[in-house]
Amino acid sequence: MKLRFLGGAREIGRSSVAVDDGRLLLDYGLEAETPTRYPVGRHRPEAVVLSHGHLDHVGAVPRLMDSLPDVHASATTHELTRLLADDTLKIKKCGRWPFNHEDVLRLSQTACVHGMEEFTAAGYTVELHRAGHIPGSASIVVDDGDTRLLYTGDVNTRDTRLVERAEEPPSADAVVVESTYLGHEHPPRKQVEEGFARSVRETLYEGGDVVVPVFAIGRTQEILMVLYEHDVPCYVDGMGRRVTRLFRQHPDDLRNPDALKRAWNHAQEVNPGERDRVLGQGKAVVTTSGMMTGGPVGYYARRIHSHPTNKLCLTGYQVAGTPGREAYERKRAEIDGDMLPFSAQVELHDFSAHADDSGLKQYVERAVEAGAEQVYTVHGDEHECHEFAGWIERELGVEARAPEVGEEVEVG
Ligand SMILES: [Zn+2]
Repeated sequence: MKLRFLGGAREIGRSSVAVDDGRLLLDYGLEAETPTRYPVGRHRPEAVVLSHGHLDHVGAVPRLMDSLPDVHASATTHELTRLLADDTLKIKKCGRWPFNHEDVLRLSQTACVHGMEEFTAAGYTVELHRAGHIPGSASIVVDDGDTRLLYTGDVNTRDTRLVERAEEPPSADAVVVESTYLGHEHPPRKQVEEGFARSVRETLYEGGDVVVPVFAIGRTQEILMVLYEHDVPCYVDGMGRRVTRLFRQHPDDLRNPDALKRAWNHAQEVNPGERDRVLGQGKAVVTTSGMMTGGPVGYYARRIHSHPTNKLCLTGYQVAGTPGREAYERKRAEIDGDMLPFSAQVELHDFSAHADDSGLKQYVERAVEAGAEQVYTVHGDEHECHEFAGWIERELGVEARAPEVGEEVEVG
């Protein structure tokens, strides 16, 4: 079996792997920076298998609709893929854009929906295994009758409130594994939750406003559940509202559907016309986007930034150069062209949905115990990918490398 890394290798964003001559693709993401970046090369696959519904894994799938490939994924992942495609079209409606409304419609016609089960795609036997990252997320096994490949996608080896942890790695000859948090340990989840809830509550007691920027897919719901469990009143705004409804229609992908329902009922939804009424009410505002690059959070940031009793609680990784990162590190952020100085407090709480250093290492160790002899480290910065491959060769004694974008390798 041949693999070609089309993106997301020694980088995060535009994840995609082509199997053999590219008639099967695993993921097809985009990196939404300017200029937008896609997986390399032109492809007319027979089938595409998707790991999970985040932009950097599925955002470019509408671009593949020329050859009308079968698009295999869990039901939740399919719906998220369409939702993200619609959203991308909306944002990019001015200017040249490489897919259109018809391509997005074709996504529905080409959908092949699966549970965590075995199926055939482009002549390969494929299995999905629960990955613990967001609802509907899966690791993918591809079997050509000779070689078994495990593509982890994004994987979380610890339970969150929203989803159960990843399954043990299935047996495979070769593994393509994410490396996002190599070299970084997450603090215990309980400690993160308690620190976050305490901090939000303190500011609300003192009469300040708290704004909690969140990613729409996964983080919005996790944060609402945490606030509910700690009895902190909150509003919810942004695209995470739509995603929460979508998740609730697929209760099998949730760890505890009732807990999400309770958290959803506890939070008060904000419609666009009501934004000016939600501050100063003693409730936290949970809103997209997670790194403050768009969404209603800009409106709230403008309202709270200048007063030190207010607080901005970031809830995940902040990419360098984003307003979220700038607010955290430099106490200023550019929102819609205006540079806002932050006198308000800015905190970062580590609610990651990825395995940390020890989680990643343990996962690969188990994959090697289950028979893997070749490992490819992807989905991390150049340094993380190389470090991880080096550790695997040294400590586990199997062949490992950090491929670069465009590189082709032979596995099995
Ligand atoms: Zn992801």
